[in-house]
Amino acid sequence: MTDRYDAIIIGAGIIGAGIAFELSKKGYRTVNVDKLAAAGEGSTGATCAIVRTHYSTWDGTALAYESFRHWQDWPGYLEVEDERGPARLIETGLVIIRSAQRSFKKELGFHDQLGIPYEEWDVATLQAEIPFCDATAFYPPRRPDDEHFGDPTAQSVPGAIFIPAAGYVNDPQLASHNLQRAAEAKGAKFLFDTEVVGIRRHEGRVAGVTSKSGDAIDAPVVVNAAGPHSFIVNRMAGIDGTMKVITRALRHEVHYLPAPDAERLPFISDDDIGGYCRPEVGHTMLIGSQDPACDPQEWIDDPDDFNRDVTSSQWQSQVYRMALRIPGLDIPTHPKGIADLYDVSDDWIPIYDRSDLGGFYLAIGTSGNQFKNAPMVGRLMAELIAACEAGHDHDVDAVRVRCPYTGESLDLGFYSRNREVNRASSFSVLG
Ligand SMILES: Cc1cc2nc3c(=O)[nH]c(=O)nc-3n(C[C@H](O)[C@H](O)[C@H](O)COP(=O)(O)OP(=O)(O)OC[C@H]3O[C@@H](n4cnc5c(N)ncnc54)[C@H](O)[C@@H]3O)c2cc1C
Repeated sequence: MTDRYDAIIIGAGIIGAGIAFELSKKGYRTVNVDKLAAAGEGSTGATCAIVRTHYSTWDGTALAYESFRHWQDWPGYLEVEDERGPARLIETGLVIIRSAQRSFKKELGFHDQLGIPYEEWDVATLQAEIPFCDATAFYPPRRPDDEHFGDPTAQSVPGAIFIPAAGYVNDPQLASHNLQRAAEAKGAKFLFDTEVVGIRRHEGRVAGVTSKSGDAIDAPVVVNAAGPHSFIVNRMAGIDGTMKVITRALRHEVHYLPAPDAERLPFISDDDIGGYCRPEVGHTMLIGSQDPACDPQEWIDDPDDFNRDVTSSQWQSQVYRMALRIPGLDIPTHPKGIADLYDVSDDWIPIYDRSDLGGFYLAIGTSGNQFKNAPMVGRLMAELIAACEAGHDHDVDAVRVRCPYTGESLDLGFYSRNREVNRASSFSVLG
């Protein structure tokens, strides 16, 4: 059996579903092919879905702020109603706790340039705003088995930054389903329980994909939006080895605990202890790691075969570090949380680009920080694909995309597969 479309999108996570919606708006007949049973069941299903703007580059900050505006107007952006209702942006605001190591001056400069409001807090303000926080400094972050774990390194952290334009999306799988429904309303198709095992070429261009059951789907455009499987899909397309920046899968854990003061808990990004937390429904909170040097990195060769259980060692590292900041934390005896994969690029900045194979496009390397950007990533990819398929040489003259809400102009050359590793990056989940 052979089916024919204008574009095949491998993956129906938040990124693939967003691309389907934006391509369909342009009149493309798209099909998303996903080996799982529903939209957003891959790494999107495990995301903390935090929406924030403090990235280490102007481009990252501008994309995140534009995307924040999309989430604020989510039902309007979707144009149609989903029978399950819309996902919601919960605007908690963000408190960045500064460390002795990092002032965030550069990041605040980008906020000034883009008109994103923020407040700089001294320690007294931090303690008044979040009374359950201890402001002692512990930098550098350590693991509990370090003999100096919990030793204060200064009387207090250098202060904090409050950014109101931040929060989280309450249901990331529902958000993916919302995008699926929005795309379907424009004629898009979604095929689930269908694994792509081959990518076919014809006369030097991509010609389509072949599924595990042997079905062929033809299209002149194929998009790799396979999340942590991105490097495997690139291998299938025969383009691994043609890019300067590559992607790999990195295992990460997020832990669930009772929240100390769920009403007043904002999203906290703590550079001093190398962790973050945000409130979750049911008076709980999530705690994650910001990849400080003390946390070992667990790279995964086979994204279908890794430990999905939380480990007591990482639980202790993340939770005990947060307990230094929130001494009243109620730590359960049994670890609870999730383990899933980031699709990490060499510089923790995504690759949104064409490839050396004509018609084959990349929306990969989301590096644990691109859920929030999915609606705009859909638009970036749709503009890129339309321009390249019309003959534009994006490698020579990078496509630019105008942001509908903020009016900024984004240079897609920033996300090139052939960039030099971007040394301005945090080389962490902060992007
Ligand atoms: C623990 C964790 C916490 C995170 N927290 C945040 C956060 O707070 N904020 C933020 O912005 N981002 C966060 N992220 C990152 C964010 O979740 C990802 O960037 C985003 O969800 C990636 O979406 P995706 O669609 O690219 O990937 P996925 O959701 O993984 O979708 C890829 C899809 O491709 C399918 N697929 C793969 N190979 C094939 C194949 N051969 N055939 C068919 N289908 C295939 C998979 O089944 C999957 O459904 C976090 C990620 C994790 C893991």
